[in-house]
Amino acid sequence: MKISVKTNCESFKNELEEVVRAFAPYLLLAEDGAVVVADLTVNGGKAKTLVSAEGYPTRSGEYAVDENWSDLYRKRCLKRFLKRDLYDFLSSVAGVSLSYGSLTGIRPTKLFYELIDEGKDPMTELVDYFRVSPSKTSLLAEIVESQKGIIGAETEKADWFVNIPFCPSRCHYCSFLSEVIRPKKSNLPAYVDALVRDIECVPPAKPRRAIYVGGGTPTSLSAEQLDVVLAAIKANGEEFTVEAGRPETLTEEKVAVLKQRAVTRVSVNPQTFKQETLDVIGRRHTVEDIFNAYRLVRDAGGLDVNMDFITMLPGESFEDFKHSMDVAIDLSPENVTIHSLSIKRGSIFAENKYDNFSDGLAERMSDHARNALEKAGYRPYYIYRQKNTSGRLENVGYAKPGKVCKYNVDIMEETHDIYASGAGAISKRIFGNGRIERLAEVKEIKGYLERIDEMIQKKIEFFRD
Ligand code: SF4
Repeated sequence: MKISVKTNCESFKNELEEVVRAFAPYLLLAEDGAVVVADLTVNGGKAKTLVSAEGYPTRSGEYAVDENWSDLYRKRCLKRFLKRDLYDFLSSVAGVSLSYGSLTGIRPTKLFYELIDEGKDPMTELVDYFRVSPSKTSLLAEIVESQKGIIGAETEKADWFVNIPFCPSRCHYCSFLSEVIRPKKSNLPAYVDALVRDIECVPPAKPRRAIYVGGGTPTSLSAEQLDVVLAAIKANGEEFTVEAGRPETLTEEKVAVLKQRAVTRVSVNPQTFKQETLDVIGRRHTVEDIFNAYRLVRDAGGLDVNMDFITMLPGESFEDFKHSMDVAIDLSPENVTIHSLSIKRGSIFAENKYDNFSDGLAERMSDHARNALEKAGYRPYYIYRQKNTSGRLENVGYAKPGKVCKYNVDIMEETHDIYASGAGAISKRIFGNGRIERLAEVKEIKGYLERIDEMIQKKIEFFRD
């Protein structure tokens, strides 16, 4: 059924539409869809909601509004009232409940922390008011528990992010602006030069807390190029992650560079241990390559390993996913991250109109990952949600005790400044009053190379007090 939203609260419209989108494929947001009216009126100390559509029972709500609320808190509450009542209305129209209830946006833990600050019990509020399932509520509670002592610590320090958007081939689910390396016509050598200047340009006002070199696949660089970039970072014992997402790119020489440049954590991403699936999703490497890369890193010693997996990859059964989890747990990396397959604009899956509708399978896979990993001693420690995921589920990072990646917590909870370098990288400044300022570098590699001087200047200004 197609739905369009009409509301007297224009400033909430986008978020109300997000609630409709969350019900896909049961309900689809469309301009020519059946009109659902979601109105809110505030009179003195009362707010009233009214959600209606022709042919369906109207839903209404009445809420107390305290005159002493700040403007910001008042707006937040009014939006919650209307979103929740729209959710209830749509849930009864569609005949389904969603794991995350009326929650939209990428960071469900943000609401958890807000509820604590408001003096409420998040466990009760999330289930009773926001309609989040008890299972997801307990997941959020575990994550908040794992973040104790890490979230908001060392705010006098800043994180560093370096982007290397190059890969050996394009994964079919990928929407990043990552360039496939062509040996004869690659922008890579010029990019390495520009990136080093970019890294070296800003004399950081703050000491470093964590460094993250992502992409792309940073280990697509030759050992020499990787060495030049990592040397420019000048790590000094901080948490330091380098993504080696495509295992076939790792060599003994590159692992030696990682060690020499004080890297502490490497992401070797299988996504699945089923060869047929790797072939279907355009990974162009073998399961054996994953084991080889893992062995190389382990043999070097002293490097923590993260492994990424994706639920609901094409053609994968529950047993296939379970097999991947069994193998991962046997290998025993320090971190495991479980992504829900998201169909993103710009990906080959989106172009091919791949349908990731799960009918409960995504939930089973995600629940299995959580149970199996927790049984093996891992704990969930960060979470984010993306659009168009199977089952509208989440991405969750799990860590063994004492192995939480601080950078992942910081980036999701937006607690620390970030000095970012590279095409598309976004620097951030966090101010005490919750204000966040961002500075994005040019996304396209060609544009980045052409405008590097201008961006360096802007970044120097951006971080100037
Ligand atoms: S390795 Fe990562 S960045 Fe590269 S194509 Fe695959 S998903 Fe995209």
